[in-house]
Amino acid sequence: MSEETEYLEFKGMKIDPVIFTQGFVPGCNISICGGQCCNWGVYMDRDFQPVIMEYENQIKDVMDEFQPRDSSLWFEKELEEDTDFPSGYAIGTELFVNNKGTTQCVFKDKRGYCSLQVMAVENGKHKWEIKPKYCIMYPITIIDEVLTVDNDHSERLDYCGVQHTENYTQTIFDAMTEEIKFILGEEGYNFLNEHYKKNYQKKYQIEIKIN
Ligand code: SF4
Repeated sequence: MSEETEYLEFKGMKIDPVIFTQGFVPGCNISICGGQCCNWGVYMDRDFQPVIMEYENQIKDVMDEFQPRDSSLWFEKELEEDTDFPSGYAIGTELFVNNKGTTQCVFKDKRGYCSLQVMAVENGKHKWEIKPKYCIMYPITIIDEVLTVDNDHSERLDYCGVQHTENYTQTIFDAMTEEIKFILGEEGYNFLNEHYKKNYQKKYQIEIKIN
C-alpha cells in the first residue's frame, strides 16, 4: 500500500483497489498446491478460540494420525495485541512437524484439508462455521483496518503466490466472490462489483490473459 493509494470505503471499512488488479489462479486446488498457505498457522480473535473448542471432540475425530490430538498443543500461549481483531487481541494456531518433516498448522491434515472445515461439513454445518476469518479470506486480509492483499504471505507460495503470475487467469476480485460476500455481505459485494465493472474488469482480465 502506498501513501497515495485511494481507498474505497464501505460502512467504515477501507478497501485497497489492489484486489481489483492483482491476479490469482483459476481457483484453490489442493491437489496442486497442497494447501501451502496453511503452513504457517493463522491469527484469530482471542474470543474465537472458545468457539472452536466447543467442537474439540469432533475435531479430534477428523484429525489424521500425524496431527496432535492433544488440544493443549493447538493454540499459542501468548496473546498478541492487535486492533484488527474485535477484542483487541489475537491468538495464533500452533504448528507441528508433519510426516514429511515440514511444519504446518495443527489443523491441516495430511491431504492438505482443514480439519475445522472437514469437521463442520461432516457434522452438517456451514463449511466456514468454525473456520478462522483470515483463513477464509486469504489471499485477502485486513491490515490496519484496510481490506487488502496479503502479499507477505503470498511471496512464499509456489502455485498462487505473487512470484507465479504465469499461473494467474483472473483477478483476485473475480476469484473471491464467495469470500468477499462473506466478509462484506451482499450489499458490500455489490458496491465493489459496480466499481470493478466500471473501472477495472475488462482491462485487467485482458492484461492477466496476455501475461
Ligand atoms: S490460497 Fe493458494 S496455497 Fe492456499 S489453498 Fe488456495 S491455491 Fe492453495
